[in-house]
Amino acid sequence: MHSVIIDCHSHTRHSPDGSETVLDMCTRAVELGIEIFAITDHCEAHEFGGDDISSAIKNCIEDIDEVSPKFSGRMEILKGVELGQPTQNTAFSEKLISEMDLDFVLCALHEMRGYDDFYFLNYYEQDIHELLTRYFDELQEICEWGKCDAIAHFTYPIRYIHGRTDIRVNLENYYEKIKSIYNIMIEKGIALEINTSGLRGDLGDTLPDYQCIKLYHDIGGQLISVGSDAHKAVDVGQGINDAIAIAKDIGFKKITYFKSRNANFISI
Ligand SMILES: [Zn+2]
Ligand SMILES: [Zn+2]
Repeated sequence: MHSVIIDCHSHTRHSPDGSETVLDMCTRAVELGIEIFAITDHCEAHEFGGDDISSAIKNCIEDIDEVSPKFSGRMEILKGVELGQPTQNTAFSEKLISEMDLDFVLCALHEMRGYDDFYFLNYYEQDIHELLTRYFDELQEICEWGKCDAIAHFTYPIRYIHGRTDIRVNLENYYEKIKSIYNIMIEKGIALEINTSGLRGDLGDTLPDYQCIKLYHDIGGQLISVGSDAHKAVDVGQGINDAIAIAKDIGFKKITYFKSRNANFISI
């Protein structure tokens, strides 16, 4: 296996669905040869009050500060967060971003207003078109708010619709909407993530897929982030080389990562 150079989406036991320590995840990453590793534990904005702080993210940052010297010279560990539904609680989200010492703010939409997490929905009982229209509308709202560095798993509902049902969505029907979101991202310097979690799950594909990543490239997008979305050490770096191969094939020349909230690049 070729070594992996970067992974900008991972979870530790500071996420409710993660189990391993910051040290365990970093140890695995450095074994793989990863030079840039972002830890992005979950923080679901709608679960907090406007004045709250996330103790999980605070504790995670403390752990990263503690273990980082052990990897000095071999791997840079970036202090990230996967901030879910930020515009459902902008007071909390903006306080988190301004008060925490974060390198990387990765935003996601796991749970739309009035709905459960896409993970829990029964798609046979849903109007799929309405669901996706609302999803892309709220994703656009997040990009317009704009206080993030990258969008995680841009086509998140597809992970479950295609991964768990025989319902097939033709994403091309949403390309005009997706293009308008991409244009906002390009204007605001928000990167598109190639999330590789689907490659090791039922989906068997990246999020978003090749054509949807190509659409971003074709309208002038240049900022590509890559992430395994590993929730355990064994998944760190998984699929990243596939994601980089896709990016190269489409015509991207570099991968973006964020340090102190500024874009940095690795040539590919
Ligand atoms: Zn996520
Ligand atoms: Zn994640």
